[in-house]
Amino acid sequence: METPDKEKKSLNFIESIIEEDIRNKKHETGIHLRFPPEPNGYLHIGHAKSICLNFGLAQEYNGKCNLRFDDTNPAKEDVEYVDSIKEDIKWLGFTWDEGPYYASDYFDKLYEWAVKLIKEGKAYVDEQSQEVISEQKGVPTRPGIESPYRNRPVEESLALFEQMKNGDFEDGTKVLRAKVDMTSPNMHMRDPIMYRILHSEHHRTGNKWNIYPMYDWAHGQSDFIEGITHSLCTLEFEIHRPLYDWFLDQITENNYRPRQIEFARLNLSYTVMSKRKLLQLVEEGIVNGWDDPRMPTISGLRRRGYTPESIRNFADRIGVAKRDNVIDVGLLEFSVREHLNKITDRVMAVLDPVKVIITNYPEGQSEDVELINNPEDENSGSRMVPFGREIYIERNDFMEDPPKKFFRMGPGREVRLKGAYIIKCEDYKKDEAGNITEIYCTYDSETKSGSGATRKVKGTLHWVSAEKAIDAEVRVYDRLFLDEDPDGHKEKSFKDFLNPESLTELKNCKLEPSLKNAKPGDKFQFQRLGYFCVDPDSTNDRLIFNRTVPLRDSWAKKNR
Ligand code: ATP
Ligand code: MG
Repeated sequence: METPDKEKKSLNFIESIIEEDIRNKKHETGIHLRFPPEPNGYLHIGHAKSICLNFGLAQEYNGKCNLRFDDTNPAKEDVEYVDSIKEDIKWLGFTWDEGPYYASDYFDKLYEWAVKLIKEGKAYVDEQSQEVISEQKGVPTRPGIESPYRNRPVEESLALFEQMKNGDFEDGTKVLRAKVDMTSPNMHMRDPIMYRILHSEHHRTGNKWNIYPMYDWAHGQSDFIEGITHSLCTLEFEIHRPLYDWFLDQITENNYRPRQIEFARLNLSYTVMSKRKLLQLVEEGIVNGWDDPRMPTISGLRRRGYTPESIRNFADRIGVAKRDNVIDVGLLEFSVREHLNKITDRVMAVLDPVKVIITNYPEGQSEDVELINNPEDENSGSRMVPFGREIYIERNDFMEDPPKKFFRMGPGREVRLKGAYIIKCEDYKKDEAGNITEIYCTYDSETKSGSGATRKVKGTLHWVSAEKAIDAEVRVYDRLFLDEDPDGHKEKSFKDFLNPESLTELKNCKLEPSLKNAKPGDKFQFQRLGYFCVDPDSTNDRLIFNRTVPLRDSWAKKNR
């Protein structure tokens, strides 16, 4: 059956290419994509865009998507990263059919092809230093200078290349270069380096290799080996595409070629995304690890309380473009707010408590009031919440001398306690430092919520029973950077824009008792405050919550 929705939705440029290929029956066995992370850090929200795109297209067109670790640079790579990448992709809701694959599995094949290129006079061993080589490459507007080794006999290159592999030479003393075109205006075509010597232990191949392939040499060939049809990458690789195609032309004579297609990477305001900089934040202790809830990593967002659905919706919303742009981080926050609004129970938590004593409520008495769990979900039911003579309210819900428009509590004023009664503030007590220590109120027993009472007041406050409340810590997270473009200042480092208030730890919070059995990852709306989730560091006798987002976007106002 045709789905009308699908027809109406306009195709993005990658879908258009794929649909045309399908119409032309270009790929007999269906379309085949891949997600190729380098295991040198944790995945971030930019990777999530690429994951949703690649795995999503495979789902949409009944194709396949491989997970391939692009592990050609042993110095920076680690199994810890491999494991976290697998976990994050699964958590986002995607699976790979076979594999995962590793570029390192193709080292033998790549070596074999390199030998073939040397034999055909299309590659040579250069013995000059890096500096000399790049100097000879020159500038795009003038032809480069050919290496004196460019036309050395094939046998010489073959022998030297084998010795390079065997570990006979020191790091940096020789490279294998493709013989392409030293006059090309595209600098990547000026005899690019295919292999460098690196006496470095690889997390999978151990000490077998003393040479490692460069990205350009490894990537397209890996795509070819796996039968990839559409190889999606970010825009900075557009200029590499002629080389991608050139290499493929050298290794195969049949018709099948993977096709590289570039799309705009995700940039987010108020966020740094480069793995190198994220690593710096971790290593310098600016954040508490890769999964710190302030990090734009997938593991950080997970710990912060983001749901896979909210991230997939976000990726959907931003779509794919051919031009670089910056997405407002507020849109990511909107996506999680939207989803949590649908799925979370509303509960009461007081983060900065002050005690209220209801003087005309009988001592020793208590009652339960009924509260709806989630008005957005009629199946969510309701629960009973204990009410009594002493309760806590939020400190900033009381003012000694409130302005007219303050519809919360002040001397002589009335407010409704959510789900319970209307109370009136009669008096209050302060300590020597001027802090409010207790507020004295009376309640109107005729005003119980749900009893058909008609009397109305403007303000409604959340509260918890002082006797029955449970204790918790709450970590209130905010954006890590104060500047919209922390990376965009020439004379300053991104670290100059760190938000000193990106984490506020509240140690003395009071929660309604229904939260006693909350488990790590459980998510709630704390009434009037925002969305919160249980941190994995929580234990049976230490409950820790993270704030995911406040109920409304406070930054939008601040910056207008
Ligand atoms: P970074 O620049 O953050 O270090 P990277 O591109 O080096 O990232 P890889 O592990 O090589 O990281 O990326 C794996 C895949 O994710 C690549 O296909 C890459 O194009 C894609 N990707 C990386 N960053 C983004 C982003 N910000 N938006 C969209 N796709 C991205
Ligand atoms: Mg990369």
